[in-house]
Amino acid sequence: ATQGLLYKRVLLKISGEALMGQREFGLDPTTVTRVAAEVKQVYELGVECCLVIGGGNIFRGIAGASQGMQRASADYMGMLATVMNALAMQNALEQAGVDTRVQSAIPMQSICEPYIRRRAVRHLEKGRVVIFAAGTGNPYFTTDTAAALRASEMKCEALLKGTKVDGVYSADPKLHPEAERYTHLTHHDVLSRDLKVMDAAAISLARENGIPIIVFSIHTPGNFAQVMLGTGRYTVIGN
Ligand code: UDP
Repeated sequence: ATQGLLYKRVLLKISGEALMGQREFGLDPTTVTRVAAEVKQVYELGVECCLVIGGGNIFRGIAGASQGMQRASADYMGMLATVMNALAMQNALEQAGVDTRVQSAIPMQSICEPYIRRRAVRHLEKGRVVIFAAGTGNPYFTTDTAAALRASEMKCEALLKGTKVDGVYSADPKLHPEAERYTHLTHHDVLSRDLKVMDAAAISLARENGIPIIVFSIHTPGNFAQVMLGTGRYTVIGN
């Protein structure tokens, strides 16, 4: 592996919206290709990389429930949305020459592998990017929690949260230009100040398992790879 790498194995979480580009809904192929290129750079550094992609660009359980659907049914639709995003990302990565596997928490034999922890570890060891789809497989959870769960199971050294901004700020930097970017926070800071990084279940799980969360911009070219080398712009949430 490349010299100066801070991590050997990481999990990247991106929201479904990160794949939307300028659209209001769904997937923007150019954006998917760009994000795949970011992942490829990290993969080429020799980092074992897994991905969790949300589904909010297609369907959110809360939105369905607010229109009268049963929450659990709506959440299953949300989980199916994450499978579509996972397949889109798999396609883009494979077109870029990166070997991948998709594993779904809800078995869908014809489309992808079922989630099997040991098998996922083996794929990573063989240099495949593993994309975890269908969240945790349970309603009432989020893909943030799925990301913290899979990162724990895969023994990832860091959970990367790829967002639109380059870290966690004291206020929304788009509305408050004077807002400061934190370079370091603890999991406890995020929970007690209710900072909008990931949901509380995800932060707690990461804290319990000693996994740092790194918040960075996935839309700044080259940044993901730089973060792996400790040179990018980001906020670390850890001890
Ligand atoms: N979801 C779920 N259980 C999970 C993960 C996701 O029920 O373990 C559903 C939930 O309805 C959620 C939707 O899938 O709204 C899409 O996931 P999420 O909102 O986390 O996506 P993101 O905001 O990251 O795009």
